[in-house]
Amino acid sequence: MTTIIEIAQLGAKVLRLHAEPITDVSSTETLQLIKKLQDTLASTEGVGIAAPQISISKQVIIIASRPTLRYPEAPVMEPTVMINPIFTMLSETKEKDWEGCLSIPGIRARVPRYKKIQVKYLDHLGTVIDIVLEDFVARVFQHEFDHLQGKVYLDQLESNEDIYSESEYLLAIK
Ligand SMILES: [Zn+2]
Repeated sequence: MTTIIEIAQLGAKVLRLHAEPITDVSSTETLQLIKKLQDTLASTEGVGIAAPQISISKQVIIIASRPTLRYPEAPVMEPTVMINPIFTMLSETKEKDWEGCLSIPGIRARVPRYKKIQVKYLDHLGTVIDIVLEDFVARVFQHEFDHLQGKVYLDQLESNEDIYSESEYLLAIK
């Protein structure tokens, strides 16, 4: 059975909460949460999703980089469930590139993010995973990680001039 949940939209309080860590990775509740996130993400053109976006304030994200209508240049990777993720930067400087968010339809913005990061998280079996992410996938991670801190990508902008309407964004990337 697929369970698609409505995506919380900007202004919803759940998007501004600091999400709670998962204490029992193997609980039915956690398994159901992961399933809902997977099903909901699969129903969109998004490349990542965080539990607060389906109105569950828990520290679970999925990174699923793949070329979609929203991100035609995205690299292909297996959808990866990350529980209680943390990261440290491996590059001092940030690079600006385009992001959008399922919780903020209609706009895109050029967001500064670290190019290379070291990420630690628990997988769906509770195993500690320690990996290095770069470029687009590192960007998606930092975007989803922000959702767990009650932040959205608009909070990271250098300037409001980096915000584009979706139609102007499509012209700008041509
Ligand atoms: Zn988002």
